[in-house]
Amino acid sequence: MKYWSNPDYTRIALYTRTKVRYRVGRLPADRKRRKPERLYVDLVGCDLGEEVPARTSVKDGLVSSIRAAEKGPNTVRVVFDCGRPFTQKVVPLENPDRILVDISRVESAPQVAKARKRAGDSRTKAPDKRLVAKIKRASKPRVSLSVMAGLKIKRVVIDPGHGGRDPGAIGPSRTFEKKITLDIARRLKRLLSEKSGLEVLLTRNSDRFVPLEERTAFANEHRGDLFVSIHLNAHTNRKFHGVETFYLDITDDRYSIRLAARENATSEKTISDLRYILADLATKSNTDDAIHLARLVQRALVRRLRQGWKGIKSLGVKPALFYVLIGARMPAILVEASFITNSKEEKRLRRASYRQAIAEGIWRGIVSFIREREKFYASGR
Ligand SMILES: [Zn+2]
Repeated sequence: MKYWSNPDYTRIALYTRTKVRYRVGRLPADRKRRKPERLYVDLVGCDLGEEVPARTSVKDGLVSSIRAAEKGPNTVRVVFDCGRPFTQKVVPLENPDRILVDISRVESAPQVAKARKRAGDSRTKAPDKRLVAKIKRASKPRVSLSVMAGLKIKRVVIDPGHGGRDPGAIGPSRTFEKKITLDIARRLKRLLSEKSGLEVLLTRNSDRFVPLEERTAFANEHRGDLFVSIHLNAHTNRKFHGVETFYLDITDDRYSIRLAARENATSEKTISDLRYILADLATKSNTDDAIHLARLVQRALVRRLRQGWKGIKSLGVKPALFYVLIGARMPAILVEASFITNSKEEKRLRRASYRQAIAEGIWRGIVSFIREREKFYASGR
């Protein structure tokens, strides 16, 4: 078990040796015994590992402690003692098998809490469509909330895709996605910090495995203002080539779902389960910014690559469901800089000049995003 505490939510990862079924429920508050409302997750088909402590003290203001005990044969119950009203998201992840539990304060997302109550707080039931649309409208003003609040961008978190035992996609000449993404991320970091004076953090700076949930948790913990995940595309059809940029959204686009499935390293079924999880309000208010950032990065990247190479295809900006972007408390995008499965683009990716051009393109996109916001303040609106 691992956990990360953030100002408005606590993320807990429950590791299991194999894939297990699970049930989620709540134990009502017990005033007489001074017990607050508790969340529990029953893991079915496993027993408690010897190394798991019976009680873990968290005391982060939201979750006071986590308790684990065997509850009958083949079932382990994990109880989260919560000190205040909360909502939860429970998502199964693979490789390694684990169940991710996000517990959020209700105060930070009152509409979501209401929506969940009305939707029956059930993973298997679709949320009320009208209500979802209402929340989307409410959180999508013409000028984004962060611009209205005058929030400045100082810190950028760059996330080089994959790493360690997860190589990502592998090209026909055995180029590893994880190696290229790290190199581009380092080049991008240099540009953003040295030329633009921004503070830049990398989710990994070596060939190391970082679970998806740890990447956004890292960005939130370090209060990143933007989150940029760098990946390379892959397709069974090796003719596919081009550049595309994604932002997090609930989507029905089959292609995006399939791609998300690959980047999430999990089954499509799990991805579709995600549609029933309402994106929380904090993420929604960032969606406008993320779409805009994605457009500027896509445009600058394609333009920069076309300066030096022929046949650069723009596949555009698309919404998709990526675990790596879920829960990010800042505008978050994912760049698929080229297709590593296309031998022409793979060859280009092996050249430092091409990787530098990718970094420059993304850098220019980020800079124009920041400049536009500065212009907005200067205009005195
Ligand atoms: Zn990838």
